[in-house]
Amino acid sequence: MNFERIKEKLNILADAAKYDVSCSSSGSKRANKNKGLGDSSGMGICHTYTEDGRCVSLLKILLTNHCIFDCAYCVTRKSNDVKRAAFKVQEVVNLTINFYRRNYIEGLFLSSGIFKNADYTMERLVLVAKKLRLEENFNGYIHLKSIPGASDELMREAGLYADRLSVNIEIPTEQGLKLLAPDKKREDFIKPMRKVKNEIIQYKSEKKLIKSTPIYAPAGQSTQMIIGATGETDAQIMYTSAYFYKEFQMKRVYYSGYIPISHDERLPSIGTDVPMLRENRLYQTDWLLRFYGFSIQELLNKEHPNLETDIDPKLSWALRNLQHFPVDVNYADRRLLARIPGVGMRSVDKIINARRYRKLGWEHLKAIGISMNRAQYFLVCASSQFETKDRTAAQLKSLIMGTSSSKWRGAYSSQLNLFESNANVTVS
Ligand code: SF4
Repeated sequence: MNFERIKEKLNILADAAKYDVSCSSSGSKRANKNKGLGDSSGMGICHTYTEDGRCVSLLKILLTNHCIFDCAYCVTRKSNDVKRAAFKVQEVVNLTINFYRRNYIEGLFLSSGIFKNADYTMERLVLVAKKLRLEENFNGYIHLKSIPGASDELMREAGLYADRLSVNIEIPTEQGLKLLAPDKKREDFIKPMRKVKNEIIQYKSEKKLIKSTPIYAPAGQSTQMIIGATGETDAQIMYTSAYFYKEFQMKRVYYSGYIPISHDERLPSIGTDVPMLRENRLYQTDWLLRFYGFSIQELLNKEHPNLETDIDPKLSWALRNLQHFPVDVNYADRRLLARIPGVGMRSVDKIINARRYRKLGWEHLKAIGISMNRAQYFLVCASSQFETKDRTAAQLKSLIMGTSSSKWRGAYSSQLNLFESNANVTVS
């Protein structure tokens, strides 16, 4: 192996891959069999993220940054004047094994530009996963990007070797996609997603009858949307997201703030801030919709098509709906408790458990870990010092904002550099 050439390719293809945020998470249970290498069961994949949410625990690269398409928002598009490179299948296999052995990574996230055509590219991605599993006996985590338009047969094979599959929607609306990626058709994304969903269902039902049936894509499928490249509202984004969660049983939809990379009058100009805070608010909204029992209509509607960036979406909803408050934490049901700003689902469970034994007061709520600087204005408990003064939404907002600090500073941190000891990342 020519180390210098491999290093150069790695620099180019790891850098090009950093714009994809859909690599995080796993939940896969692939046990180590036959004394193989790696094991994603039990401990799963270690979740380490840069401060802006990008995953750093996987070897995250493109197979190639050559591409026959010209999507305006993409650094890899064919008209962009950048250095190009391509790995051979065996080179990716060797890198993965070598980095895994050195403890640099827990798995592989492999994406690619499209060279020649969708199937030609997908075939090579599948071959990497197949070689890792069958020749190297690798049981670590593998996430493969599916190439839009890839054949059903290749998609079926991909899910037999990869833990997770994903195909990116990229632009939340069809009009936006037409504007920025006229060569792409929505159906090209939908087809592989549908195939993956159907295969997951089919393999699961076969497994009930035949125990030896393999698990197809055990960590499911995910997708990603670029935020802020076109003028879509947050409501449009969340409706698109809800459609993909429901229709294709997505494990996750990722939101990636658009990073201006070139001069193009269809796109925000270079130097425009990456909408990191908006990205964070969308993730919070996504969470409220999936785990807190909110509907999109409650959080985003005609009057409020966009999320407020200075406060989180639950607080924003509460301030618009003060008639539901204060909530009595000693009697309210789970659904209402989950709506109190500053109270997470874990705290809801703790409250329900603790109030079986005693009436809860201020000190109990603090011990449970509730964020009292927000919650105190929206609840009552057994402590008499709890005051429920009549305050307007504007007064409450200013009181709360006066005592809170945000960790979001809008800085964009790049992907972990595998060759620098002082890489600019914060891991949790
Ligand atoms: S097809 Fe994918 S890699 Fe190619 S330009 Fe479009 S987004 Fe980029």
